[in-house]
Amino acid sequence: MTRKLYTGPLVSVSFDGELCQHAAECVRGMPDVFDTAARPWIDPDRAGTTEAADLLREVVARCPSGALEIVEPGAR
Ligand code: SF4
Repeated sequence: MTRKLYTGPLVSVSFDGELCQHAAECVRGMPDVFDTAARPWIDPDRAGTTEAADLLREVVARCPSGALEIVEPGAR
C-alpha cells in the first residue's frame, strides 16, 4: 500500500496503512480529524485554525508507528 495524502487548508496529513499499529493515539488526540467511522477517516479540514493545526502537528508527532506524517504547505 502506498502513502495517501489528506489535504487540509493549513497542514496536510499523509497516512500509510501498512505501518499503522492501531494505537489510536490519533483518534484520542483529535477525534474531529481522525474518525474511523467517517470516509475519508482523516479530515484535516477540521484543523482550519492555527491553534488546531498546531494541535494536529502534536497529535501526528505522537503516532508511534510513523504511519502518520504532517505535510506542510509547499512541501510537495
Ligand atoms: S496514531 Fe498512528 S499508529 Fe496509531 S492508529 Fe493513528 S495512525 Fe495508526
